[in-house]
Amino acid sequence: MAPNAQEFPPAECDLHDKPELNNDDAKALRAAIDAAVAYRVNIDSRPVGPKLGASEMASRLAAPLPEMGTEAHQVIAELAEQLPDGLAQIASPRFFGYVMGGGHPAGIAADMLGTAWHQPTLLASLTPAMAAVETLLGQWLIELFGLPSEASFGICTGATMANVTGLAAARNALLKREDWDVEADGLFGAPEIHVVVGAEAHSSVFSALRLLGFGASRVTKIEADSQGRMQAYALAKAVARVEGPMLIIAQAGNINSGAIDPLAAIAKIARTKNAWLHVDGAFGLWAKIHPDLSGMIAGVEHADSWAVDGHKWLQTPYDSGFIFVRDAEAHRRAMSQTAAYLDASQAQPNPGDYVPELSRRPRGLAAYAVLKAMGRDGLVEMIGRHCALARHMADRLAAEPGISVLNDVTLNQIAVAFGNADQHGDAATEAVLKAVQAEGICYPSGGNWQGRHTLRLSVSNHATTQDDADRSVDAIITAWRDYQKSA
Ligand SMILES: *Cc1c(COP(=O)(O)O)cnc(C)c1O
Repeated sequence: MAPNAQEFPPAECDLHDKPELNNDDAKALRAAIDAAVAYRVNIDSRPVGPKLGASEMASRLAAPLPEMGTEAHQVIAELAEQLPDGLAQIASPRFFGYVMGGGHPAGIAADMLGTAWHQPTLLASLTPAMAAVETLLGQWLIELFGLPSEASFGICTGATMANVTGLAAARNALLKREDWDVEADGLFGAPEIHVVVGAEAHSSVFSALRLLGFGASRVTKIEADSQGRMQAYALAKAVARVEGPMLIIAQAGNINSGAIDPLAAIAKIARTKNAWLHVDGAFGLWAKIHPDLSGMIAGVEHADSWAVDGHKWLQTPYDSGFIFVRDAEAHRRAMSQTAAYLDASQAQPNPGDYVPELSRRPRGLAAYAVLKAMGRDGLVEMIGRHCALARHMADRLAAEPGISVLNDVTLNQIAVAFGNADQHGDAATEAVLKAVQAEGICYPSGGNWQGRHTLRLSVSNHATTQDDADRSVDAIITAWRDYQKSA
């Protein structure tokens, strides 16, 4: 055979004879998979909260910089041994903190495979498979959410970066209409953009405004109602006399109440002002796919950009968030840095042209796998179950004397306060939250809402059952009764 003839695998290499269990690399991968399976199978035998805190974990790990290497499988075995005591069981069906999702096994497995395949997902020519997966995923999600079919799609780390991306596209488009090229010339001396947000917008929106040079404080905040929804009449009044470029940021899914802004009315106002309407729908956008919930989010399809998380309600592993932009060109202009690598013959979009990162993990694979494993039916069933369980938990908690549910439970979020605000201040809520977290049957998180500290519950794990919900409510009620006896 000619010395430069290509043959793969080379003839002398018989892959089937490879003694893989003596192969350190294969052993490391297997060790990780075995440890992952053992962790997930036994998740219920651990308290839901972390056993050790951050400083205890720091002491456990403390070691000098390794001068000499260790076999990879040994490194993995040690991690699997040492770290789980410092993990909250966020995948537990009784983890109700923040809005976290459960991490569906199909997504985790696909993610592991994608990592092993080692595919930085920026160029379609470099990773045709991942580009095709992400393009199809985008089409599926656009259909699922009922968004405009011409919308572009990008996969970010989460809703925070999805908000950044959507608002960067808005900045590009609004200023282009004023003949200003913001990507080239920046914001100094640019026409002003009037930025309007709801009073209860998520902190990540302000973070996005900071990063993009809009300033977190240089905004008009619109009054919210008792559930945290932007008031449409207040928006109409605030923008009535404003001229020029305008960016309106609405929310679907308030983290305390789950409430969704009145998007149909907001979209109508945005249209009369020729404003760009961005919707932060980190988890609330999922209401759109459920026939009993979609009424709450009617009109969302009239927005210009939409941010939504994969790792919350879609149950993908961390991290995963999606951005959709009606004006695909504005999206690409705001994000693309690949002009230097551009292949003009490229029929498929480059995944890297629609997100801030150039090199990144093939995030779409996990979301594709979860969507395929659950199907539209499975997702609709799960979202309906979560909302029903949230109502059930809220009803049981509210029936207990001294426990108040502060929100209308219309989605999957519950904001709970304990005792009388005048008599106990926030002490009762703080004490009950700590006691419940320490006991380990379930894990709510703390919050602040309507002038009170709260114990916050989010039903967002695919595996959560009625039994999980009831055991968790029992634990919370018991902690409250114990507090009253000791107080
Ligand atoms: C969670 C959340 C975010 C931030 O999402 P990340 O995935 O943590 O970046 C933004 N907005 C809302 C409404 C959220 O609930």
